[in-house]
Amino acid sequence: MPDLVQIIEFFQHMRWQDYLDILVVAFIVYQAIRLIRGTRSMQMVLGIIVVLGAYQFSVSFNLVTLNWMLSNFLANIIIILVILFQSDIQKALTQVASLSFGRSSPELMSAVGEVVKAAFIMAEKRIGGLIAFEREIGLKNYVEVGVSLDARVTDELIMSVFHTSSPLHDGAVVIKEGRLAAAACLFPLSTDDDVSRHFGTRHRAAIGVTRESDAVVVVISEERGLVSLALDGQITVMFDQNELRDKLAGLLNLTVHGPVETAEGAYEA
Ligand code: ATP
Ligand code: MG
Repeated sequence: MPDLVQIIEFFQHMRWQDYLDILVVAFIVYQAIRLIRGTRSMQMVLGIIVVLGAYQFSVSFNLVTLNWMLSNFLANIIIILVILFQSDIQKALTQVASLSFGRSSPELMSAVGEVVKAAFIMAEKRIGGLIAFEREIGLKNYVEVGVSLDARVTDELIMSVFHTSSPLHDGAVVIKEGRLAAAACLFPLSTDDDVSRHFGTRHRAAIGVTRESDAVVVVISEERGLVSLALDGQITVMFDQNELRDKLAGLLNLTVHGPVETAEGAYEA
């Protein structure tokens, strides 16, 4: 057991670079845990920890065959991890990039205001809707199967698109850089048994697309008259316009202070 003097000596011998080193590593580990917490990746990480434990066990007790099998597996672990986590790695890297570049696009800010307004009106009128905000990972695959629009986002336009008499109402709308890029887009449905029991296809599409990408998706339920926000395969009910607006502004890195002009007036961001 190290005594107090040894501990003090240890710290005395540390250079400032060592402190910096520890801080940076702690930050990276913290961010990595935050990224994977509550996702499928967390279970995979736990699985890998179990495999590492089994490997250590095979070494300690000299279990030759188990050791041979696990050491072969671990030798290829980097490739296995890259394949398993490809979408998470892509998400993590793009998040690192976006940390340094906060955006303040007036068009995106206005689009957020319009979507928030439309969403709650639609919920009240029991008109269903699915609106995805593209972030770093492109939603090109889904936009391509939809109907391309490239229009300014207004609440009237969104409500018209999702009105049941509209030929474009089936499917999702994608907003890219503050413009309504396309409507009638089809997202991948989550096939998770747990999810499918609770939700219909609209909500499963929201969960599916946010698992595959870093998009932020607003879901308006025609059955329940509720507005929800989907992110990372998780869906949360939004109680009012302020909650949805604040969440969207935060997730889209809208660095705004004070009132923001929208087509219809101003709101506090
Ligand atoms: P609600 O609460 O509004 O009823 P729900 O989750 O129960 O939603 P459904 O009732 O099955 O879902 O919603 C059907 C609508 O969801 C379709 O009319 C279509 O507009 C939309 N939708 C279904 N599948 C997809 C998909 N893969 N991508 C985008 N939109 C989809
Ligand atoms: Mg339904």
